[in-house]
Amino acid sequence: MNVSEKDLRILVVAPTSRDSGITTELLNGAGIETATFTSIDALVGALNEGAAAVIVAEEHLAGAAKAPLAAWLTRQPPWSDLPVLILTRPGADSPESAEAWRTLGNVTLLERPTRVTTLLSAAQTAIRARSRQYQIRGHLSERLKNEQALRTADRRKDEFLATLGHELRNPLAPILNSLEIMKLSGAFKDAQTQQAGEVMERQIHHLNRLVDDLLEVSRITRGVIEVRKQPLELSAIVKAAIETSRPVLDNLRHELTVELDQQPMCVGGDPVRLTQVFANLLNNAAKYTNHGGHIWIATRRDEGDAVISVKDNGIGIAPNALSQVFDMFMQVDRSTRRSQGGLGIGLTLVRSLVSMHGGTVEARSDGPGLGSEFIVRLPLLVEKAAAAEPPRALKPLPARRILIVDDSRDGGESLAMLLRVLGAEVSLAHSGRHALECVDTFKPDVVLLDIGMPGMDGYEVARRIRGNPANRNISLIALTGWGQDEDRRRSVAAGFNHHLVKPADIEELRQLLTVA
Ligand code: ADP
Repeated sequence: MNVSEKDLRILVVAPTSRDSGITTELLNGAGIETATFTSIDALVGALNEGAAAVIVAEEHLAGAAKAPLAAWLTRQPPWSDLPVLILTRPGADSPESAEAWRTLGNVTLLERPTRVTTLLSAAQTAIRARSRQYQIRGHLSERLKNEQALRTADRRKDEFLATLGHELRNPLAPILNSLEIMKLSGAFKDAQTQQAGEVMERQIHHLNRLVDDLLEVSRITRGVIEVRKQPLELSAIVKAAIETSRPVLDNLRHELTVELDQQPMCVGGDPVRLTQVFANLLNNAAKYTNHGGHIWIATRRDEGDAVISVKDNGIGIAPNALSQVFDMFMQVDRSTRRSQGGLGIGLTLVRSLVSMHGGTVEARSDGPGLGSEFIVRLPLLVEKAAAAEPPRALKPLPARRILIVDDSRDGGESLAMLLRVLGAEVSLAHSGRHALECVDTFKPDVVLLDIGMPGMDGYEVARRIRGNPANRNISLIALTGWGQDEDRRRSVAAGFNHHLVKPADIEELRQLLTVA
């Protein structure tokens, strides 16, 4: 905050107008700006425009006269301690000056007749002290501005990540639904198409978890992501990660060398999260290596640990950046980031996930141009990996009239097809108004309602459905891309019975529809 001319002036209320004239002349002569007043009230009125100090004759402070000044002084901001110079009568201390000294804070008493040098030195000392206070005011206001800018940026970042996650999640629901339809209609009949179907399913689920991570980005730093641990055979995880990264590796024509330890190694972990760890490292190795490079992934045992190394002969990392690459949004070279389109959260996530599995990860590089190696250590489990879960088969639904409301045609229609295949009677509405008409004509048992729709949103539709007592037995299920606690609270308040996040787990949805 800048110091204005008014901030450096001294406000004067002398015993008489003649005294005021003399004092002002002396101060002006020494280069000090002044403003004179005939009463404390007038002086206090000017204080808010800025002042370095005040010079007041004690006569003006008698009794209640000093109250406005005392009140102004007590209201000062923390950086401010306005110097008050009181011109006292000659002789013994008067009760007014003694009282003023006690109550007005930063007070200097100057006995009249005051020597010129005494007055000037007191005025200059006051201005100096006040200038220090202005410096503190400047620092505080700068800090406040920075804090506000940081808070705004942080809020925008959170909003952006939530929107991004939401936008990415929306297309996943119709894809997943369509896949379920293809499975149920026997589209995957031979071994080859079945394998392709399984790959698609795995990858969509994986994508879905990645989108979740984006939404959980603030939780990542605090390490509060949930991991569902089970005994795992490490090579299966490494293979799944290679499969995930295969398109990126192939696209950039990298050669991949895989060297897996001969003996099976069992670790306790969440298969999706651990696959994500190695897929992230492989993707990075691919991204930060020039076309046609060489990437190695190897596993070995080291005492009680499984050690997994992901190495490349790519652009390498400068020594000073090695310790920072795991920090949130950290990217060593922004131009590389632009061409490769990363978010700078991959390694933050890797480190959090590995440490949640009781492991560690470190980055090594001999420097720019000399390739990089990421080494993950995970504690080994003694027991054998559990057998793979048998594939689930969906059970049919009991007879239900279900109204699906979704402004996305693909999302609504694919879900409608799936529920019809499962035996439900389904109707579709693509807007809030249309939904309300359908509720009256179709008389559904359950309404699956999207929240974010143009015009009338899902909350409003829910409130209107609940507003009609004839609809009290209808079960309302929110099916939305928004899954934060606040979104769930809002949907309960609007009258929903359940809140599912897209793409909903089909089995979870089937169970809800069965009991709804
Ligand atoms: P992103 O790849 O989205 O930028 P990451 O968190 O995965 O974010 O990586 C952070 C930074 O670490 C990258 O921007 C890059 O500068 C550096 N980095 C990661 N992996 C490698 C690698 N294999 N070789 C060189 N630099 C890497």
